[in-house]
Amino acid sequence: MTMEESGDLAAMFRRLILNTGPVSIAHFMAESNARYYNSADPLGSAGDFITAPEISQMFGELIGLWLADVWMRAGRPDHAHYVELGPGRGTLARDALRAARRYGLEPRVHLVETSVALRDVQFANVPGAHWHDDLSTLPASGPILLVANEFLDALPIRQLVSTEAGWRERKVGLEGTGESGRFIFVTGSQPMDSAVPEAQRDAEPGTIIESSPAAAAVIYEVAGRLEQQGGAALFIDYGHAEERTGSTLQAVRAHRKVDPFASPGQADLTAHVDFAVLSRIAESRGAKWLGTATQGGWLRQLGIEARAAALSRSAPEHADAIRAALHRLADDEQMGALFKVMGLAASGWPDGAGF
Ligand code: SAH
Repeated sequence: MTMEESGDLAAMFRRLILNTGPVSIAHFMAESNARYYNSADPLGSAGDFITAPEISQMFGELIGLWLADVWMRAGRPDHAHYVELGPGRGTLARDALRAARRYGLEPRVHLVETSVALRDVQFANVPGAHWHDDLSTLPASGPILLVANEFLDALPIRQLVSTEAGWRERKVGLEGTGESGRFIFVTGSQPMDSAVPEAQRDAEPGTIIESSPAAAAVIYEVAGRLEQQGGAALFIDYGHAEERTGSTLQAVRAHRKVDPFASPGQADLTAHVDFAVLSRIAESRGAKWLGTATQGGWLRQLGIEARAAALSRSAPEHADAIRAALHRLADDEQMGALFKVMGLAASGWPDGAGF
């Protein structure tokens, strides 16, 4: 590792901003998260946040059943690939593949993961998988059964803000100099009006709109591959199914929301996913948008209550924990309403359940 790589990311950003001016939020977020995910295993009760597959095996199992169901109704095509984007500890893949195997679905497994630290954990949970740095090296033939849970929210976003003088990019600047310089939001000087959709241009001053070109690129690529190769995809994340304005940039550390600028590289920086935009991008590529359901509604339609009851019968000593997990995953005041499930499929493939 060079000094620069091992050094303090905050110091690096301070130097960069002093020398060349404010940096984009996307730049700040991309560097911070690359460092964050590479330095440790952030998931689980001992880490910074808990994700659905870490709460209960029911989550991954129902996703495996969903994939097996569309694959069977598509006529059990050969050479199917299970693809997961940002698989974390590999828990979802392990649970989903175990459930799918009971229906005769034994796909090759492809994990798209940039973190070297997390790849090690995935290796232990998903032996025999193939790893990829991005989607470009995924196989070009054979249907794709793709899952991404809490992946899109970690991709860099751009923010534009409406000012009296027109639209500008919201950037990260510095207040004060040297070691004590604090990162603050600043307004860029370049006019950005042409980047704002016509319908939103007249928004009142102070309005912020967010977009994630990186998330859009992922959906564009996945939808194109579904059309070319066949298959179906599930994107699960917190976000909104209708368009909206405002900043949703946030940072989480040790299960608490913290200032996104406080310690770059040491907290998870995320933003809400704009499912409305992403579904339109998928459709523009010819893929079928199956719908965007709430996580709670989708899991219930897939039978999470029956699955919880069966698990409790076979392990009564865990009944309380199973009930708590069900509540956490599916109830509206927990993850059930904020989290959404967006389904996509190749146009010739069956509609998946739950939408
Ligand atoms: N899906 C897992 C982990 C979610 S955390 C779960 O539900 O538990 C986000 C995951 O995406 C991590 O595995 C992280 O290393 C990975 N990730 C973040 N940015 C990425 C990128 N640009 N390319 C590939 N993986 C990325």
